[in-house]
Formats: sequence, structure tokens, C-alpha cells
Amino acid sequence: MERKPNIAIIGAGPSGLTLARILHQHGIPTTIFERDESQNARKTEGGSLDLSLDGGQKAIRMAGIWEEYNKLARYEAEALKLIDRHGKVYLDSTGFDTGRPEIDRTELRRILLESLPKEYIRWNHHLKRVDPDGTLHLAHTIESGFDLIVGAEGTWSKVRNVLTPIQPFYSGVTVYETLYENVDEAHPEFAALVGEGSLLVIGNETGIHQMTQRQGDRSIRTYAYIRQPETWGSDVDWHDPKAAREALLPWFNDWDPQFTQFVTATENPVLARKLYILPVGLRWPHKDNFTIIGDAAHVMTPFEGEGVNAAMRDSLELAQAIIANPTDIPQAVKNYEEIMWKIGEQKQKQTWDNMMRTLDYNGIEYLHDRLQHLMGMIKEGKMAKNGTPPNPKYSHILNTEAQILEVF
Ligand SMILES: Cc1cc2nc3c(=O)[nH]c(=O)nc-3n(C[C@H](O)[C@H](O)[C@H](O)COP(=O)(O)OP(=O)(O)OC[C@H]3O[C@@H](n4cnc5c(N)ncnc54)[C@H](O)[C@@H]3O)c2cc1C
Repeated sequence: MERKPNIAIIGAGPSGLTLARILHQHGIPTTIFERDESQNARKTEGGSLDLSLDGGQKAIRMAGIWEEYNKLARYEAEALKLIDRHGKVYLDSTGFDTGRPEIDRTELRRILLESLPKEYIRWNHHLKRVDPDGTLHLAHTIESGFDLIVGAEGTWSKVRNVLTPIQPFYSGVTVYETLYENVDEAHPEFAALVGEGSLLVIGNETGIHQMTQRQGDRSIRTYAYIRQPETWGSDVDWHDPKAAREALLPWFNDWDPQFTQFVTATENPVLARKLYILPVGLRWPHKDNFTIIGDAAHVMTPFEGEGVNAAMRDSLELAQAIIANPTDIPQAVKNYEEIMWKIGEQKQKQTWDNMMRTLDYNGIEYLHDRLQHLMGMIKEGKMAKNGTPPNPKYSHILNTEAQILEVF
């Protein structure tokens, strides 16, 4: 009988879990080392994600968990309002189906975890270092003897250090995230403004892009993306809502106050995150027993809504390469990396371009034109609709021009 490859995956995020699940479906077990102490260790895992047809949705289908996913997918949350900082409405897509429903990040992780045997996941196993011979130095133990080590541990991947010395760098943008609970009761006007989907307020010359999103539990999260120096705010105690408010409000000087409620109306702490990225088109010399997927391979900003989709697409591509070549892991890695580099580079380019244009002095005009164009393509059947593929006549467009934005 063929020996099954012994595969270690570092990180139980969307990419690591999707890879493990698809391989499991094909009888190939894996061991996942995750630094979190348990499934419920995190107080917050961030907001919702929209899975694209050729990214997350494709991987979910391949993983055989479409039904579980589809029960949780919020199609009504695709609605988007595009408004400028003074309140002028540019676009309201309520009722328009983009084929990219939202799912809460926690729920996505839960269905992936539930689809795997419990013994696959080794919680509380923080990878500290990897030796070139494949020895894993974990927080409380050392492991070795794997045919393949897959780094799926996000931006600050340790496995990547075996492949390349290149490190992520600051994108020039910091995101401030706040959560409102009971918003329908406490702030009904604001809740109505956001509706069931997303409210995107663009600040043009202020260099701010603010996304407020309804979540599956009816809470609302706001992400304010601001162009700032990397060290800005290092002296602010972001756990203190009052201090956070005082630090952030001056950035919104001439904004309509209804859009600065994310700072003024919440007593929750503000989560400040510097956004780091890898260089567009980063590649490395092939190594037989190591590879990386997801953010570890091509972390980008969220401006195109492609991070998780590219990550899950990597999982799908790597799983398929291994399934086709279970006894020749080096060849499987080569095949996977060729595809991943091409797709990853394309997504990184789109994301960089979109970030620069959205945060430009005429960002709202750019976004408005782009969204109108994409909606036109959907109406004409050139793009996905109702979660089904577009007219096959136009399928070549899906991977090139026709990428729907994160804002859907
Ligand atoms: C504010 C924000 C908003 C975003 N919004 C969107 C969006 O709308 N759409 C979209 O497509 N993408 C979005 N993204 C990007 C998306 O979250 C990532 O691309 C995606 O989560 C990548 O998945 P991953 O599995 O590669 O890595 P991660 O999600 O980072 O998962 C990595 C896992 O590895 C674990 N880990 C880390 N280090 C170690 C270690 N040393 N040892 C063991 N375990 C470790 C972590 O605990 C985690 O479980 C957003 C990102 C941010 C920051």
C-alpha cells in the first residue's frame, strides 16, 4: 500500500484548515500546530468575510462543506452604500446580488474545525522556529520527521524564514476597528443607515476609507483605514476608549458627525492594527519539504477583499497538487507554487492598485465608477450572480478584470 505523506500545517486559520479538510476528504491526514490555546481562546476574530466564486467558494465546495457554509452565508449582507464624508450618497446596491455573500469569520472557522477529526489539531503549539532540516521548535515541544511542512500561520510566518529572508513591510495604512453591540436599540438611526450590509464612507483628501458592516449576530463593526506613519499612535492606550477617541477624532475634523459615531458612540476598546504587506510578486527558490500558503505567502491589505479568497484558493491548489502526487511531494510543491505565485501576484497587484486609488483625493469617484462598471457586468451576465457562475461565454473575464471589490 502507498505510504501516506506525513504533513505538518502550521496555523489553524482559513488557509490551514481548508487545506487539512480537502486532504482529509481524500484520505490524507495532517497535523495542525496552532498557537491559540483552544478554539474559543480568542475574544474576537474580526468581522465578516465575503467569499468569491473562484476563491473561497470554490475551496468550500471542494472541501465538501457547501451546505454548512450556505446555511450561514448572508446574501442580504452584500448590500452596500457608498457615501462621501459629508453625506452625499453615490451608490446604494441594496437588493443587488453580487454572488459574494458574507460569513462571520468565527463561523467560517467553526465549520472548518467541525469538519476535521479533533485529533488533527494541536492547540497551544506556538511555532517559535524552524530548522532547515525540518525540526519544528514549538512552545513546549520539538517535532520532526515530516515529509512536508506548510506555513499557514499568517503575516509573520516562521516557515517562510526557511524559504526567504524577505519580511513584510508597513503598507502606510493603519486600521482602527470598533464593535457596537445592541446597536439597533442604542443607536437606531445609525443602525438604519448601515442596514443589513455595509456602509462605506470615503474621505477623499483626508486619506480615510471607513467601512461599517453588519455582522451575523446583529452587532456592527467599523473599520477606519487611515494613511498614517507607522509609529503614529504608539503612545496611545487603545484599550482606553476615551484615550482612543481623543486620539482619533482630529483625523475626522470635517466629517459629518453621523459617520464618526464609530469613535464617539462606543464604549468598547479600539483595536489598532498596522497593515503589513509582502512585496508584490515575491518568489523563492524551491525547497522540497517546505511551502507556504495564504497570508504567509502573499499578505496584502484588505482593499480588494481578496486575502481570504487567495488564501483558500492556495489551499485548494496545494491539496490538488498533493492528491495528484502523494508520493512525490517535491513535485507537488513545485506544481502548487507555480500556480500560487501567478494568482497571488495578480491579487496583490489589484489590491495595491485599489488601495492607492481608494485613498486618493478622488477615491470616491474612482470607487463609484468601478462599482457601476462591475454591477453593469453582473447585469449583463458577465459575472457571478446568485452564487452561480457567470455565462460560460464570459468565464475568461472572471480571473482578470471582473473581480468584485471587498466593499461588496
Ligand atoms: C482588518 C482586516 C480586514 C480584512 N478583511 C478581509 C475581507 O473582507 N476579505 C478578505 O478576503 N480578507 C480580509 N482580510 C484578510 C484575511 O483576514 C486574511 O487574508 C486571511 O485571514 C488569511 O488567512 P490565513 O489562514 O492565511 O492566515 P490567518 O488568518 O492569519 O491565520 C493564521 C493562523 O495561524 C496561527 N498562528 C500564527 N502564528 C503562529 C505560530 N507561530 N505558530 C502556530 N500558529 C500560529 C494564528 O493564530 C491563526 O490561527 C482582512 C484582514 C484584516 C487585517
